[in-house]
Amino acid sequence: AGVLYIVATPIGNLDDLSPRAEKVLAGVDVVAAEDTRHSGRLLQHLGLHKRLIALHDHNERDRAGALLAELESGRSVALISDAGTPLISDPGYVLVRAARDRGLTVTPIPGPCALVTALSAAGLPTDRFLFVGFLPAKRTGRRSALTELARESATLVFYESPHRILDAVDDMAEVLGESRELVLGRELTKAFETFYAGSVREVQSALAADPHGTKGEFVVMVRGVEPVADAEQAGALDVDRLIRLLLPELP
Ligand code: SAM
Repeated sequence: AGVLYIVATPIGNLDDLSPRAEKVLAGVDVVAAEDTRHSGRLLQHLGLHKRLIALHDHNERDRAGALLAELESGRSVALISDAGTPLISDPGYVLVRAARDRGLTVTPIPGPCALVTALSAAGLPTDRFLFVGFLPAKRTGRRSALTELARESATLVFYESPHRILDAVDDMAEVLGESRELVLGRELTKAFETFYAGSVREVQSALAADPHGTKGEFVVMVRGVEPVADAEQAGALDVDRLIRLLLPELP
C-alpha cells in the first residue's frame, strides 16, 4: 500500500518549507489539500504538477474514502493544509484515523506550526501549555470558555482571526483580569511579524495605538495562574469575577 504523508507547509515565509517536505511533495502521486487553489500556488512555486484532491471539513468523510482507496491501490498521498501543520486546527483527523485503523503507514513530515512558533519566542513558560484552538465566535460562548480556563496553571494558547482579536482581548480583560500577562504573536514569519507583550491592559493599548494592530493572523498566549496561589484568595477572586460577569444579566 502507499504511504500517507502528513506534510507541514509554511505559515507565511516560503523558505520555511523543509527540503524533506519538498522531496516528499515531489515524490507522491496525489496531494490532498484544504484549498486546492491555494495549495496549487505552492506546488506551482515548487515547479510541481500534481493531482490535487480537496479535503476540507465539509467533505472529509466522503473524500477520506477515495484517498484510502488510492493508498490501498499502492499510490502515495501527501496531506497539506493552507498553512502549517495539518490536523492542528485544520482538517485531516478523519483521514489519519481511518488510515491507522486500516493499518496503513502514516508518516509525519514536521515543519512550521503557528502555535509552536509563537510559544518559542513569547517568553512565557512552555514546560506546560494548553492549546485551546479557536475560542467560540460569539461573546457569551467565548466568555464562558474563558471562565472555565481562568484557574488553569498551564500557559494557554489560542488561535484567533483578525476580526475578532479586539473582542477576544476585551473578554480576557473582563474574565481573566486586566493584569494577566498576555502575549500576541501577529503575522509570524511574515514581513510585519510583531509580538505584543505585557498585561492584558498594556496589550489592549498597544493594539489600539498600532494602525496595523488588528491586521493579519494571531496566536494568543496567556500566562497561567501560579499553581501555588492560595486557595482562599483564588476563591475570593472568582466570586468577584462571577459578580462582574453576572451583573449585566441581572434585571
Ligand atoms: N495548521 C495551522 C498551524 O499549524 O499553525 C493552523 C491553521 S488555523 C486554521 C489558522 C490560525 O493559525 C490563524 O487564525 C492564526 O491564529 C494561526 N496562524 C497561522 N499562521 C499564522 C501566522 N503566520 N502568524 C500568526 N498566527 C498564525
